[in-house]
Amino acid sequence: MNTHKSHELFARAQALMPGGVNSPVRAFKSVGGEPFFVARAEGPYLFDVDGNRYIDYVGSWGPMIVGHNHPAVLDAVLRTARDGLSFGTPNPLEVTMAETISRLVPACEMVRMVNSGTEATLSAIRLARGATGRARIVKFEGCYHGHGDSFLVKAGSGALTFGVPTSPGVPKALADLTLTLSYNDFDGATALFDECGDDIAGLIVEPVVGNANCLPPRDGYLQHLRELCTRHGALLIFDEVMTGFRVALGGAQARYGVTPDLSTFGKVIGGGMPVGAYGGRADLMRQIAPSGPIYQAGTLSGNPVAMAAGLAMLELIQAPGFYADIERRTNALCDGFEDAAQEAGVAITTQRVGGMFGLFFSDEKVDTYAQAVACDTAAFNRFFHAMLERGVYLAPSAFEAGFMSSAHDDETIDATVAAAREAFREAKA
Ligand code: PMP
Repeated sequence: MNTHKSHELFARAQALMPGGVNSPVRAFKSVGGEPFFVARAEGPYLFDVDGNRYIDYVGSWGPMIVGHNHPAVLDAVLRTARDGLSFGTPNPLEVTMAETISRLVPACEMVRMVNSGTEATLSAIRLARGATGRARIVKFEGCYHGHGDSFLVKAGSGALTFGVPTSPGVPKALADLTLTLSYNDFDGATALFDECGDDIAGLIVEPVVGNANCLPPRDGYLQHLRELCTRHGALLIFDEVMTGFRVALGGAQARYGVTPDLSTFGKVIGGGMPVGAYGGRADLMRQIAPSGPIYQAGTLSGNPVAMAAGLAMLELIQAPGFYADIERRTNALCDGFEDAAQEAGVAITTQRVGGMFGLFFSDEKVDTYAQAVACDTAAFNRFFHAMLERGVYLAPSAFEAGFMSSAHDDETIDATVAAAREAFREAKA
């Protein structure tokens, strides 16, 4: 595969940009080698600057649930952009967006739009602290909630990939306020709340962990967290930046039937534009400025073009059968991976929830962060490169979930599985 132009761009980028990228996992540090630079994307495909085509299971890390460059989303963006890119005043699309989110996720009685998932989680935790008058927060090892100081403690995603789950630059005094738990451990959560539950402002969790590969909750686990928070007056925050509008139309909270106090979103609601949101109980959300004293703001928040992209996307995913269909595709892919691995004599496990999935080099079900990090990452890295050479792009880290889109038709999935048949053989040590 010729990647000459990408190589040249990466050399220029490295001279001026830390690691040559604007977000760490893109640099391929974990899997080795160099990233490819994308010129354009269409449906299930990315096309790089050297003219190579890749079947894409990253989907811009989640937003591209209807495939790249969907005509309805593109039209909405172009139409809206003609009327101006940003007003710095209220615009009607913000109201439609709030109404849409609130209708699809009823626990979001009120909503505030922001510009990224990081902003959403930072704001939600400030609200939890402001509303409860408590300082401590609880998160889970291997969960990633963006790069806010309070969350870069035993974090997942890039932080985990690069072996610095707790970042320098986070003041110890602040990090000390972040308590961490092991995901899917019932007793650990009970014990922590017994010990200091009355000091905890909020517990934030990825209801399906997508930043330590893909870890679904054990039966009753989210209910257990709900009960602990309720009993101790702590707020339950579902970080649905990844799971929102992906594992079900109403997110993980709909899929598992557990209602959080606050929810955070990103990805799909922007349709690929820089967007995030947080929402929840009206009595809490009213405490946000300007109706309340807890401050949070954003010059570009509710940007009309971003709202238009997001609304077009949210329209598409409400089509009857959309989620059953995307789940069928995810299952076809994961079943195909399992068959191909078995044929090659490689032990893998796949885990799927709606339109997200994980592929582990492990012969048993993976429920916990400790199990996820114990998987054979070297084998994953070999598999990743063997797939890339065959024109299939998986997330460039063993600790990221994969994403399916409605543009991945049977033919695309079959082609992926055919590539995997060879790639598993190559990945064998
Ligand atoms: N929360 C979760 C669950 C995420 O997966 C991410 C990003 N992958 C974030 C928060 C941060 O979002 P952003 O990168 O848009 O700041």
